[in-house]
Amino acid sequence: MFLNDDDAVQILLNVVNLLLVLVIIGQAFLFINMSEIKIVEAPPGIEGNGFFATSLDKAIGLARSHSLWPLPFATSCCGIEFMATMGSHYDFGRFGSERLSFSPRQADVLMVMGTIAKKMGPVLKQVYLQMAEPRWVMAVGACASSGGIFDTYSVLQGIDEIIPVDVYVPGCPPRPEAILDGFQRIQDLVKNESGRRRHSPEYKELLASYGIQ
Ligand code: SF4
Repeated sequence: MFLNDDDAVQILLNVVNLLLVLVIIGQAFLFINMSEIKIVEAPPGIEGNGFFATSLDKAIGLARSHSLWPLPFATSCCGIEFMATMGSHYDFGRFGSERLSFSPRQADVLMVMGTIAKKMGPVLKQVYLQMAEPRWVMAVGACASSGGIFDTYSVLQGIDEIIPVDVYVPGCPPRPEAILDGFQRIQDLVKNESGRRRHSPEYKELLASYGIQ
């Protein structure tokens, strides 16, 4: 069967009409569904549907705080407690920190767990210096925080003698819950840190007090 030009044009018009009808029906369905969506009043300062306002600092802080890569610097018993914290029962990975970094260059949080002998001090400082900014430090347990029971000539009486510490976790050893709590305090600091802090004169002064440029 052959179609002449008039028949072909007629078929084409019919197809176009059919498509138009389908589009109109689709829009009608969409309108009905949209009318069922209940939109609540937007809080003050926030305008527009599906839109919210925040500051860049807060958005970056939120992303950073849930993707921290810890570097476990474990020298003794507190390190064993950290191993329990990493296990399935306590599941450290729930906080976005599943990936431990054993390279300081990819780590965000230095977790110092255990007795730090004075001989080990320069090694710990070197690890800290190799971490990129912004970096945070957790002193986990009595030994890292204050030397613990080892009040002797050979033990560093707290890692804050050589590097700045952001959070101290008490205990000898601290329970995994305490380590998790300390980590959440670090997350709070990360979330609320201003993007300008690392360039501020106060921060430079803090580093200078540790002989860090
Ligand atoms: S704080 Fe206690 S448990 Fe932790 S390293 Fe020191 S002695 Fe060991």
